[in-house]
Parts: sequence; C-alpha cells; structure tokens
Amino acid sequence: MSEIFTGNFTQQEPIPEDGIAAAMAVLQHGRLHRYNEAADEVAETALLEEEFAAQMGAKYCLAVASGGYAMATALRACGVGPGDKVLTNAFTLAPVPGAIASVGAEPIFVGVTEGLVIDLEDLAAKADQAKVLMLSHMRGHLCDMDALMALADQHGLTVIEDCAHTMGAKWNGRWSGRDGVMGCYSCQTYKHVNSGEGGLLVSDDPDLMARAVMLSGSYMLYGKHRAAPPPEAFEHVRYVTPNISGRMDNLRAAILRPQLRDLGAQCARWNERYWVLDKALNQCPGLTRIDRPQKEEFVASSYQFLLLDWSDDAIKDVIDGCLKRGVELKWFGNPEPVAFTSTYASWRYAPSEPMPDSDRILHGVMDMRLPLTFSLEDCAQIARIIKDEVTRVFQKHGS
Ligand SMILES: *Cc1c(COP(=O)(O)O)cnc(C)c1O
Repeated sequence: MSEIFTGNFTQQEPIPEDGIAAAMAVLQHGRLHRYNEAADEVAETALLEEEFAAQMGAKYCLAVASGGYAMATALRACGVGPGDKVLTNAFTLAPVPGAIASVGAEPIFVGVTEGLVIDLEDLAAKADQAKVLMLSHMRGHLCDMDALMALADQHGLTVIEDCAHTMGAKWNGRWSGRDGVMGCYSCQTYKHVNSGEGGLLVSDDPDLMARAVMLSGSYMLYGKHRAAPPPEAFEHVRYVTPNISGRMDNLRAAILRPQLRDLGAQCARWNERYWVLDKALNQCPGLTRIDRPQKEEFVASSYQFLLLDWSDDAIKDVIDGCLKRGVELKWFGNPEPVAFTSTYASWRYAPSEPMPDSDRILHGVMDMRLPLTFSLEDCAQIARIIKDEVTRVFQKHGS
C-alpha cells in the first residue's frame, strides 16, 4: 500500500500569543482606526510602520489594506496613470497586473527563465517601451538584482518591487524591497506574516512616500505617523493628491508586530522545510529542480520544480497521482486559470503577444505551498510521494 499524506496545505500556524493579547487590548479599548488615539497613546499602526522601517533599514514605511493596494499606491505615487505602459513579470500572481490595470495603465509582460526569475535579456529588449518596472519576486525567486538595477539605470527605468514572497529575503546582503524606489509587501494569510489582509510599503524617497501617505487616506493627519516624511514633504502634495482610502487598522497592526519580531526565525523554519524537500528530490529522473544563486538568501514559503517538455497528459497524471496521495500540486501550464494560479495569457484585459520560451517554462512549473504547520517529517513524506509519482509517470510515458 503506497503512503498517503494527510496534512493540510492551507493551514497556517495560530497567531502568536502576544499577538492575540495585543489584539484583545485593541478590541477592548475600541480604537481600531489608526488616527483614533487616546492622549499619550501611539497607535499600533504607527508603531508597526516605525518598526518595519527600522527592520528594513528604510527611512519611511506605510501600512495599508493589502499587498495589491500597496502596489497600486506605489504606481500612483510614481505618477503612473491611464494609458501608461508598465513592464512586469509574465510569471506572477493576478494582483500584479491587476494593480497596473487599476490605475488605467497597461502591463508589458517580460519573460521568465528556468530559474523562475525575470528574463533580463527580454527586459533589456523591452526596456524602452516603459518608464516603470513593477518587478515581482514571484514565489520568492530573486533575479540578479545587481544586474537588474544596472539595466534599469541604463534605461532610466523606475523600479517598484513586489515582495509578497520575499519579505525577509536578501540579495547580496540587501533586504528585498530596498533596491527599487518603493518595496511592496503583503500581510495576507498566505504570505510571511498573517493579518488576514494587509500590506506594507517602504521607501527612502520623501516625495513618493508623502504621496503614498496622502493616497492611503491620511486626511491631514500625517503628523501622527512615526515613519512618514517630515511635514515639509507634504506642503504641496497635500493639496494635489486624492484620498483613495486603503489604510491599515490597529487590530491588524497589533497582530503583525509580534510576527515581524519573529520573522527571521520563521524564515529559517521555512528554509529547513525547503531543504528537506529539495535534497530528497535531487536525482529524480524527469524532474528539474530550481537552481538558487549564491547571492540569494531566499525564504521558501513555497516549493517549485519543473517538468520541462512533459506532455499535458503526463503532467496531469503526476498531479492526479499526487493528489490521490494527499499532495496538492499547482500547475502554471493549465490552459484555464485555477484558484490562485493563472498566467499572462489568462489576463485578457491586458493584451499580450505569445512568448514561446516563457510558455515552455510556465507549462512545466509545478508549485506547492509549504505552510509552517508541516513538520520536517511531513516534508520528507511529501518528497517521497512526489518522487514516486514523477518516476511512475516518467517510466510509463518514456518522457
Ligand atoms: C499575494 C500577492 C500579491 C498581493 O497581495 P494581496 O495582499 O493579496 O493583495 C502580490 N504579488 C504576489 C506575487 C502575490 O503572491
């Protein structure tokens, strides 16, 4: 009888006790709105921003309602508007092109490599078509950020980083989100900290951040922030920036602060799980592991591998075989968008040319969540099941 995994791929850990206690305090005093402070009180949201800015070594931080909202706000702050083109990854999640579309702009998709990062050659070829690059570190894979920033400088591209999967990661010693003019993070349940929904924006640019603060719906209360630019930065901006409400509230901030203090330890736990899987999937015929560059300090909250040049039927056979044994794989080659998984061709509001090289890779991308509720033994079992199923199908189809 073949073994079956019984864990749940969508089960998070509970909110830490100190987060629950802080949330209860907010519920008891009732001041959930970030600008509703008692005398001498500093709102949880303002403290969260101050702490995350310090953690990332950023001058400024703004907490908002979601990661998608953070990205749209960054685009607006950079002056992106209707009809503008924005370069972005062909391999990413729907809220990324969605943020671009939300400001009336049009994505120009840039291809993906076998390392699952943005294709810098394709980027160089398309760089002159836009002024802004929304760079998505999809599934936590960081491209060569030194090369990317050099290329962006050369072409005068403004880089905004989508760090939904790289909160806590580094490239060449630098925190992810600190190379671009703004870094955007998500605090949604499936990311690295969990407040259900939520987002964070960091920057060193006082003008961009003043705009972002106004956009988020600060009314004229930006003086209550602790990680916002000084009042001078708002002098002009306050009259010309619309309020597009998307603030974070004190309840979420209270839940997040203790989680951010634990971020480093949590990231290490994710990576322990990753290495158990990755070592066990070494030398599985037909399966291509993703190379991780030396300079990348990643956070593996998910795991990807490639079944490169496999037929649809063979891939479906692997997915079905794994699913029967309790292992849920997501497939970026599915012609229909399913649940959270879709690709550039399914975003029909954003026209695109086919990209055969990227399509070949996307067709082979297998993706799996790695919640921290899985033990190392769970990960070893998942790896055995994947290896079994890939081997079974590989032998049958003689792929
Ligand atoms: C989740 C996610 C986002 C946006 O996060 P939300 O908080 O859900 O809006 C952005 N980019 C990527 C790659 C994501 O996975």
